[in-house]
Formats: sequence, C-alpha cells, structure tokens
Amino acid sequence: MNSSIRFTFVSISKKATVILSAIFVVFILIGCDYNKELLKSSQHEQLNNKHETEAHHKKEVFYSLPGLKHGLMQSPINILSDQSEQGKHNVTFNFKDEINNVQNLGHTVQLDFEPGSTVNVDGKTFEFKQIHFHTPAEHLIDGITYPMEMHVVNTLVGQTEEEATEYLVLSFLFKMGKENKFIDEFIRLIPGVKDESEDVSTGTVNLRKLIDNNPDYNREKVLNSYFSYKGSLTTSPYTESVNWFVMNTIIDASPEQIQQINKIQGDNARRIQAQYGRPVSNK
Ligand SMILES: [Zn+2]
Repeated sequence: MNSSIRFTFVSISKKATVILSAIFVVFILIGCDYNKELLKSSQHEQLNNKHETEAHHKKEVFYSLPGLKHGLMQSPINILSDQSEQGKHNVTFNFKDEINNVQNLGHTVQLDFEPGSTVNVDGKTFEFKQIHFHTPAEHLIDGITYPMEMHVVNTLVGQTEEEATEYLVLSFLFKMGKENKFIDEFIRLIPGVKDESEDVSTGTVNLRKLIDNNPDYNREKVLNSYFSYKGSLTTSPYTESVNWFVMNTIIDASPEQIQQINKIQGDNARRIQAQYGRPVSNK
C-alpha cells in the first residue's frame, strides 16, 4: 500500500516535473520570440527612420533646383479640397486700399501699396506691400488650372533685419467672365516699357472694387472663405516663410483683361510642387 502510494506520488511528481518543464520551455521560446520581435521591430523602426531621413535628404539633394537650398515646403501646390481640414484662423482686415504705383516689371505687373493697410492673422499683424499677377494661375484647386492668379503680398510687422521675413500672401484666382472693375482701373496705367513705373494718385485704383462692384460676390464671404497652408515664395529665392491664403471664390475678369496682362508679363507661373504631407486647412 505504502509503496503503491509512493509510486503514485513519484509518478505524479515526475509527470508534474515533465509538464512544468514543458511549460517553462514554451515560455522561454515565447519569451525569445517576443524579444526577437521587439528587437526586430526596433531595428525595423531604426531602419525606417534611416530610410526616411535618407529619402528626405535625397529629395532635398536631387529634386531641389540647382543652386537653391530649399526644403520641402515649396509653393504652389495643387489644393485638394476634400483632403483639407477645417481650419480655425482668425483673420481681420484693416484695409485703407491705397495703391500709389503701377509697374511693368517685365516678368509681372506690380501695384504698390501706400503704407498703412494691414491684415491681422491669429494675433500677428502683416502690412500690405504689393500686388502682382501670374498668368496662368500657379495654385491649382482640385487639379484645375485657372487663367490668372493675383498675389497680395504682406510682410510681418516688427521683424528685425536679421530675421527671415515672414510673409502672408492672399491669393485670388480668376476665371474668364465679366469685366473686372479693379483691373479696369489700372490696366491703362501699366507702362508699355519694361522696368518703368507710373505713379497713381490716391483713390484712382481701389482694390475693394475687385469684388465690391460685382453683385455676385459678397465681400465678407469672399475674404472669409479660403484654403490655408505653409509654403514658399514662387519666385527666387523661394523662401519657405509664407503663410498662404488661397481664396475659395474664383473672381471674374474678362478674357481681354487676362490676355492683356499675359501679353505684358508672358507665362510666369511656377509649376506645382510636391506637398510632402503638409496640411491644408479650409474655412
Ligand atoms: Zn506671386
């Protein structure tokens, strides 16, 4: 009886030892595998980071324009409206609308502002500097190229000379349609000769007529509906310190007006640039 009990006990204990050993081995194997997985994933991550850094570097080295050290925030871009996110920008215009000079720069037609018109974006104040044109448009919306784009260039107020200038560019896209009253006010004043400029007396050329004289447009609505993203100047030196606000409303200009501006400045639109994951917000 005793020996039988002992035998059973020994046999149970042997079985238990075998089972426990088996479980132990399984745990070690699982543990090893888990560690291997951890190691693999961390190596993978490092490799990914390395590849991303290399890819980033490669893009900067091989896809930059010769002689220009620009990064991956270039403009213009093709704005995809359904991929843009709802934005929360706070924009206020303090707009005196005084244009005092019209220039034929050869590569563009430029209008200069009298100091004093400002726009406030998210607590930062930018001063209106100049307006110029691109034919055809530079920014695309959902793959559509419009015949003309107007840039209202503003610079941040209160920057020191050492700081890189921060820009705010308001972009208006044009389609062929009704004659535009604002363009009508300055088009005859554009000098026929390149690099010449024409002084304009206050009140002769009024930017507000860009939209105010067209009953189809509501000024508040036009200025408060835009796509916004961070990008660059579209001409040399392609500085990447531009807050872009591309207006959602496409403005009318007559085919003759667009053709006339194109005749002076030629085709001066930069091609669209890669977005590289930059977010575009809409309002
Ligand atoms: Zn421009």
